[in-house]
Amino acid sequence: MKKYYITTPIYYVNDVPHIGHAYTTIAADVLARHYRKKLGAENVRFMTGTDEHGKKNTEAAEKAGLEPQAFVDEQAEKFEEIWTNLNISYDVFARTTNPDHYASVSRFMQTLYEKGDIYEGNYKGLYCVGCEKFLTEKELVDGKCPDHRTVPQAFEEKNYFFRLTKYLDDVRKLIETGELLVEPASRKSEVLGLFKQGLEDFSVSRESVAWGVPVPWDEKQTVYVWVEALQNYTSFAGFGLRDEEFEKWWPADLHLMAKDILKFHAVYWPALLAAAGLKLPKRIFAHGFFTVNGQKMSKTLGNVINPTDMIEQFGVDATRYLLLTQFPFGQDGDIQASRFVEKYNADLAGGLGNLVSRITSMVVRYTAGAVKDRRITREYNLGELEQGIQNLQFSEVLESVWAMIAETNRKINDHEPWKLAEAGKMKDVEKVLAEAVLRLRDIGTILESFMPDTSEAILTALADLEKITKPENLFDRK
Ligand SMILES: [Zn+2]
Repeated sequence: MKKYYITTPIYYVNDVPHIGHAYTTIAADVLARHYRKKLGAENVRFMTGTDEHGKKNTEAAEKAGLEPQAFVDEQAEKFEEIWTNLNISYDVFARTTNPDHYASVSRFMQTLYEKGDIYEGNYKGLYCVGCEKFLTEKELVDGKCPDHRTVPQAFEEKNYFFRLTKYLDDVRKLIETGELLVEPASRKSEVLGLFKQGLEDFSVSRESVAWGVPVPWDEKQTVYVWVEALQNYTSFAGFGLRDEEFEKWWPADLHLMAKDILKFHAVYWPALLAAAGLKLPKRIFAHGFFTVNGQKMSKTLGNVINPTDMIEQFGVDATRYLLLTQFPFGQDGDIQASRFVEKYNADLAGGLGNLVSRITSMVVRYTAGAVKDRRITREYNLGELEQGIQNLQFSEVLESVWAMIAETNRKINDHEPWKLAEAGKMKDVEKVLAEAVLRLRDIGTILESFMPDTSEAILTALADLEKITKPENLFDRK
């Protein structure tokens, strides 16, 4: 692998950034940082962004008393701000109101049209603005959208349809054989189940939604917001705009998302790409949903976690750590917010923070800041942990790191360097401390992708083996 192109979904801006967005984006950031170390920063492209068209946004803009563009500008800024606060190292922030995106989408759609994969039809259906999609009668509960509890709007209009059915077999086969990876395995079965149920051609334009990218051959229509939003992955990689750039980055190595938008990514998007004659993404990974303190997150229950509050309370790195260690990435799980303080104190203030402070103090005190014994052997296989990161096993990798922390602590307790020093056995002190420093360097190295500031503080303190320093307290007890 020479380059790594990773994406999060572009987030719909009618809402403010929440913990779900943060969860996906932190995970993507860990991967981007990891691959930058492996491949060099110039060979990694990490993209996130905002989905800014569609009826939902014009309605939200109206409510806020703003023009759509002014509204989405404000909202997009909120996302960029939270990502800065969470130390998210994105390379590109894709906004679908960018004129380049319009040009790229036009080119994409025109290609499908000229190929004969788009035809005119009449759409008659029930539309949920909240979902920005058509619902079938079967999907309704008491005549309402099950997610939004609102009655969908019935309407009929002229639309353009995409010949999805023409590409279904090809896409299904690629998923079956793993040429297009859909992960985790449970999600792959779910997607293959969709193919079995049967899928139909779908409409890719709207006549009644003005806020969008115009259909190039019929300016009275706009491209359906989902179809156009998916194309951010190609347009911001330069499709139809900058060939050399596109050549370098496409196909995407990983599209990361929550499982609710898997169908769009694993069925519609590959089919659209195939129709456009473009390569398919290599891997699609959909993580699970979570509850908070055992219950569905809701304003009424008062268990909504705000990422900004978390950063204020615990700091950036601790927030990243607390979120990624709750349950295995990919599965559904529970975020035990009620135990954040306990976990923070145990793992960060008491665990990692204490270990760093303990080792560096002893090196400064007993061996004048120098690591004198250099005959140390490596004990941990960092390659295995790196593989874990590449497999998106974030909580498992962090568990292993915390096992290393516990073991390093235990070794110090067993050898009691302070007693060895008292007894004048300085060679032994040097050996115990040298080993501890090396372990701590390993720990700092693996944490680079997860907790960048903490890792930097550790590695800086240990950089010069002649002059180890004691860093400031990494985590204050709460
Ligand atoms: Zn809905």
